[in-house]
Amino acid sequence: MSRQYFIAGNWKMHKTRAEAADLAKTLVLQLKDGKHKYLVAPSFTSLETVGAIVKDTNVLLGAQDVAAEEQGAHTGEVSVLQLKDLGVQVVILGHSERRHTYKEDDALINKKVKLALKHGFEVILCVGETLEEREAGQAEVVCESQTLWGLSGVSAIDLAKVTIAYEPVWAIGTGKTASPEDAEAIHAYIRKVIARVYGEESAQKLIIQYGGSVKPDNVAQLMAKENIDGALVGGAALKSDTFVPIAQFS
Ligand code: PEP
Repeated sequence: MSRQYFIAGNWKMHKTRAEAADLAKTLVLQLKDGKHKYLVAPSFTSLETVGAIVKDTNVLLGAQDVAAEEQGAHTGEVSVLQLKDLGVQVVILGHSERRHTYKEDDALINKKVKLALKHGFEVILCVGETLEEREAGQAEVVCESQTLWGLSGVSAIDLAKVTIAYEPVWAIGTGKTASPEDAEAIHAYIRKVIARVYGEESAQKLIIQYGGSVKPDNVAQLMAKENIDGALVGGAALKSDTFVPIAQFS
């Protein structure tokens, strides 16, 4: 089955509003005839600015996280209602920095996934093993467990709004990329897990992005693999010089 490639840029905690606006304007111009699906996820502080620039273009607006509760006394958190108000369309959840630096567990991530879907957002659910887990031969088990936990209680209908991003923790921001073969093996495994739970048709439709030091010079080899359907890009998403060639790979 041919799936549309989905190329997403996670800007993490970078860029003032003016810097974010500059990059967003360049991307909108340079990607306007691009044939893949595109997303940028700026910091919360730049969502309104970037949202105004990408509105009605082929670049979606994403948030890097969301609170697990709808509203209330949650100092420092940002809610689904507030993201909706800003025109956010997609929420990235379970990023390895949220899991490992901020100790988000699967139960919390699952709560966020269900809340975001309930409010009509698309979700990018990130999964991936650490280096220790890979070396212990646990990469598949870890990704299976994070996928199943993250999607627990998610219906087959809502699964259509979910993208899985396989991001081996050891490859994020390190310059180390999983080989296309190693990445493909995990992507195929995740698709098998989804087929077991949701059926073959849903599994075949699921977009599975790869993330971890994706660059202009390695994107094509990764995307050539049957089960790799896009990229979640960190460092190389911060400049149009590197993000545009990734987004326009062919
Ligand atoms: C990420 O943070 O999701 C990521 C993949 O980062 P990088 O591309 O910098 O490895």
